[in-house]
Amino acid sequence: MSSPTATRRETAHTVAGSVALDGRFARELPELSIPWSAQTAPAPRLLALNEPLARELGIEPTWLRSDAGIALLTGSAVPEGATPVAQAYAGHQFGGFSPRLGDGRALLLGELTDIDGALHDLHLKGSGPTPFARGGDGYAAIGPMLREYIISEAMHALGVPTTRSLAVVTTGRTVHRETALHGALLARVASSHLRVGTFQYAATQDDRDLLHRLTDIAIARHAPAAAEAERPALALLDMVIEAQATTVARWMSIGFVHGVMNTDNMTISGETIDYGPCAFLDAYDPGAVYSSIDHGGRYAYRNQPVVAEWNLARFAETLLPLIDDDLQHAIGLATAALERFSAHYADAWLSLMRAKLGLGEAVSDETAAVLATDLLGLMEEARVDYTSTLRALSVCASGGVRPVVLDSATGTAWAERWLALEPDADAMDRVNPVYIPRNHLVEEALGAATDGDLAPFDRLLEAVARPYDVRPGLERYAEAATDALGPYTTFCGT
Ligand code: AMP
Ligand code: MG
Repeated sequence: MSSPTATRRETAHTVAGSVALDGRFARELPELSIPWSAQTAPAPRLLALNEPLARELGIEPTWLRSDAGIALLTGSAVPEGATPVAQAYAGHQFGGFSPRLGDGRALLLGELTDIDGALHDLHLKGSGPTPFARGGDGYAAIGPMLREYIISEAMHALGVPTTRSLAVVTTGRTVHRETALHGALLARVASSHLRVGTFQYAATQDDRDLLHRLTDIAIARHAPAAAEAERPALALLDMVIEAQATTVARWMSIGFVHGVMNTDNMTISGETIDYGPCAFLDAYDPGAVYSSIDHGGRYAYRNQPVVAEWNLARFAETLLPLIDDDLQHAIGLATAALERFSAHYADAWLSLMRAKLGLGEAVSDETAAVLATDLLGLMEEARVDYTSTLRALSVCASGGVRPVVLDSATGTAWAERWLALEPDADAMDRVNPVYIPRNHLVEEALGAATDGDLAPFDRLLEAVARPYDVRPGLERYAEAATDALGPYTTFCGT
């Protein structure tokens, strides 16, 4: 792509050998690609390696630990055939449109095919400034990269569509934030990095062929059935709406707050992406906001479905010229598709909550919805821990002690209504997690890692990687935070 600031940086790469990476994105969408290379990491050291994921991708973990593997994970050596690029995208950030964001500190290394034949992006975050850096330094610090690693892996274990984390490497470079910090890179794997913002960028280029190509590529990668539809772009929109409704319903069911649902942080695949100022609810509070920069509460827990729908409307706008030549007709079709979001969301949410309450198929949707909503009301009033309360309900279902939230008169009445439906305690334990990356545990693990001790990080990862299996020795990972910790805030873009 042409850019006033971009001069193609010729890569002086050696060949990494053991991983086949394709340069498909660079080849097929040159208008959205700036070929670029990573800054050399002065003293790279592997901090975390996702061995099961590496194996699924067909990469030998011992090779990734070697100098050649670390050279790939830091972008200093890429296989022949790969063309690392900074990807262009636009985005609505807190509602305001930025026409040119792009990977300011990240690179798409290339596409790889896993052992089942599926295609994935291998991407580096924190790899140095690109022409999209807009004054940012292009780097990342250890804490935020390990945060993305642990939260994305926990999300995956909880059944939420998400990008995955392959590795975190500390670079040996000092990164300056409020204080001097150790720099790090995250190697991320995604079914693609196509974002709503990618389409927004393409739509502003006044290039119908580009928009068409991007849409065809998104369809081939994420919605192959749409290619056969009468209106492929509309069918893609439908599929993205459904995928995002399902993903956000899953977030809500586990008490996850993304924190920065800008359109550049929303994928076409439906995978959760860009774990910045994200957090899990402690006490149930629909208005919970964790991001230090979200002053208006735009991305509060309860707003997430509405924001997703808003973002999808921005996606729909980009597709209008491909939906129909008659703009009014295209708007009508896109609007009808967007109107299906709430039904998809409600269905997905209800089936998740129904499972959490152990309700069988004989229980009507209406009864299940009222029970779930009433329970959330009780939790909000009592300000009890969301995750622990849901997990504790199975004990109650099998005749054991009732969680505190059911102590009140309304709570007792709720319990009677619910127990009369004979909830299945074992089924509940398979869907209500014991171990999630609780905020105080994440902070503890990241603080220790920043000081050079990775043991708490490894232990927390071990807990959240199997969220439903109670294991001896992990008791403190199942405990709710104490109120003494005060309000929790996380920071983005660091
Ligand atoms: P994020 O908030 O991480 O989703 O990033 C939003 C935009 O800011 C993207 O275009 C990023 O590439 C860019 N960005 C964030 N942090 C940095 C940084 N330290 N240096 C350069 N660009 C950055
Ligand atoms: Mg982002």
